Amino acid sequence: MDERRACLQPLDDGWLHRRPLRISMLRLDRLHPVVSGNKWYKLKGNVAAALQEGCPGIATFGGAYSNHLAATAAAAREAGLASVGFVRGLHHGAAGTDTLRFCAAQGMQLEYISTADYSRKNDPEYFSFLRQQHPGFWFVPEGGANEQGRSGAETIARLVPGDATHVVLSVGTGTTFIGLRNALPAAVAMTGFVPMKSGRYLETEIRAHLRAGQDRAWSLIDAFHFGGFGRTNQELMDFMVAFYNNYRIPLDVVYTGKMMYGLRQLLQEGIFPDGAHIVCLHTGGLQGNPPELRSLFAQSDSD
Ligand SMILES: *Cc1c(COP(=O)(O)O)cnc(C)c1O
Repeated sequence: MDERRACLQPLDDGWLHRRPLRISMLRLDRLHPVVSGNKWYKLKGNVAAALQEGCPGIATFGGAYSNHLAATAAAAREAGLASVGFVRGLHHGAAGTDTLRFCAAQGMQLEYISTADYSRKNDPEYFSFLRQQHPGFWFVPEGGANEQGRSGAETIARLVPGDATHVVLSVGTGTTFIGLRNALPAAVAMTGFVPMKSGRYLETEIRAHLRAGQDRAWSLIDAFHFGGFGRTNQELMDFMVAFYNNYRIPLDVVYTGKMMYGLRQLLQEGIFPDGAHIVCLHTGGLQGNPPELRSLFAQSDSD
């Protein structure tokens, strides 16, 4: 992991907007080939805690396309820890998904659980049943949504330039959003794009973790879900290809593609004031892209 690779890239050539304001992208996707984006920040404190407590490994939860599972598998391996992934759903085909194959190749032990059981993963009784099967393991909730995850995400704030007026990011569990809202000056306005239907329920979750004085100047937008979490369409694909052709920045189809599509819409509506400096977080997730996008974007890995 090399934090110096997380450059700030200007997006100021007039394709996204024609207003007197600046837009930059904070390229957290460049941090690490797999533990990229926000996942490294959410995992670093968890890995440190597992090592400090002398745990044999890390156990966590995710779907068959989960960036968090892939990142955990790679981070645990790098730290010399074992890893267990509880995968949502029993049916992923004989060969699984690319993400699950990657996890297994990193040495992660995959345990498939039914969607019904998966939804009970936070029930104390079922959770302690899972714990008993992996004694001593450090358990990380889905998406890295725990104390270590939130405080790790706070440290992303030091990469945000001091003249930023707006910070835009994509929201899954809200962990990264919470960390940043707590760590950035309260005057910096934050917009979170939620890539799922009716995602604004996360507002309650976010608010519950904000420190005194930090519960201001933020909002969530769930209008750009493209049919729901993990869903896509040709319009989104075309947008991501055009974005790549303009800026040589690969986006991911689940999170950052929808975020930039939504941001362009807001820019067209002219909601940002003149003179603003909007910093968009590239939170990574490229491992989860479909093969045709991965091969198109593979050209950018050389720089
Ligand atoms: C996991 C992920 C998110 C969501 O992060 P949360 O901290 O769970 O809100 C956003 N973008 C990308 C690319 C991700 O992989």
